[in-house]
Amino acid sequence: MKRIGVLTSGGDTPGMNCAIRSVFKTGVAMGLQVMGIYHGYKGLIEGRVDYLTHEDVENKMHKGGTILRTARSEDFKTEAGIKKAISVIKAYGIEGLVVIGGDGSFRGSMELVKRGIPTIGIPGTIDNDMGYTDFTIGFDTAVNNVTNEIYKIRDTMRAHDRVGVIEVMGRNCGDIALWAGIGGAADLIIVPEVPISWEDAANRLEQNKLRGKLTSIVMIAEGAGKAEDFVKYVREHTDVEIKATVLGYIQRGGNPSAFDRVLAARLGERAVELLVEGKAGRAVGIRHNTIYDVPLDEAIEIKDEFDSKLYELNEMMAKF
Ligand code: ADP
Repeated sequence: MKRIGVLTSGGDTPGMNCAIRSVFKTGVAMGLQVMGIYHGYKGLIEGRVDYLTHEDVENKMHKGGTILRTARSEDFKTEAGIKKAISVIKAYGIEGLVVIGGDGSFRGSMELVKRGIPTIGIPGTIDNDMGYTDFTIGFDTAVNNVTNEIYKIRDTMRAHDRVGVIEVMGRNCGDIALWAGIGGAADLIIVPEVPISWEDAANRLEQNKLRGKLTSIVMIAEGAGKAEDFVKYVREHTDVEIKATVLGYIQRGGNPSAFDRVLAARLGERAVELLVEGKAGRAVGIRHNTIYDVPLDEAIEIKDEFDSKLYELNEMMAKF
């Protein structure tokens, strides 16, 4: 193998640049040329490919987003789109590909593998919704971002004896709400994995008020409902003073945490090693602080397990 390519796909995450740098450095160390494919599968179809250089990756570790840009591509889901992508890969002499993205991007990678292109997936999504790996690149940074915001919101809620409801990302996976909730001493965490009615949640806030706890922080993962809807319900059914904040994209931007940088470096290295070892169609991940790999289809199928022990820990702490 002489030449490999790397692309970022789907939602961007802080730490993607560290993974690109690691893929580049490992590739160079192993005597490979490394090409960057810009704008994910969309750019692949359009032939937006160029050699990566030391200047490209220099001084980018601390930057969020992705120097390769990212995109979504409906074309890539069609036979004609895939064929075009493969012709670009062949035209540039790319013999192996590293794809950094979420499960959608991994599904795309499987299509390439099926057609004979050796591809390795690196998990990049802030939601931490991929079951085969304990952590995905960007999750830790998102949790840090959210935790810092909780304390700002808590300051002003406390000044007015109000309840602050904070909506965070996580469509099917409540990990950001859970981890940031514990980091930010939340009084209630509402996640898709643990259904709770608005009525029960509102009762909790009323109980808090009765025991003299006038300020509470409620975390809601977007997949469990809208902060505004909950606030409306509480206002209609109780006399609790309550305000909603939707954190939005500030969760996803900013400097990657040291944890995400190290994780990205480790995953990037293993991805290139796998390509060189001729082990195509695999996803790299981390389990019990050990980097390992599984077939891409398994990586997509393994169900993400919710850490109910962590959830219960927060429930216990919120009670006393
Ligand atoms: P993520 O990788 O963050 O989950 P998406 O689900 O948006 O993000 O997927 C990113 C891209 O991967 C899509 O825009 C599409 O080009 C490609 N992709 C997703 N699912 C498939 C599929 N089943 N077949 C081929 N390509 C896919």
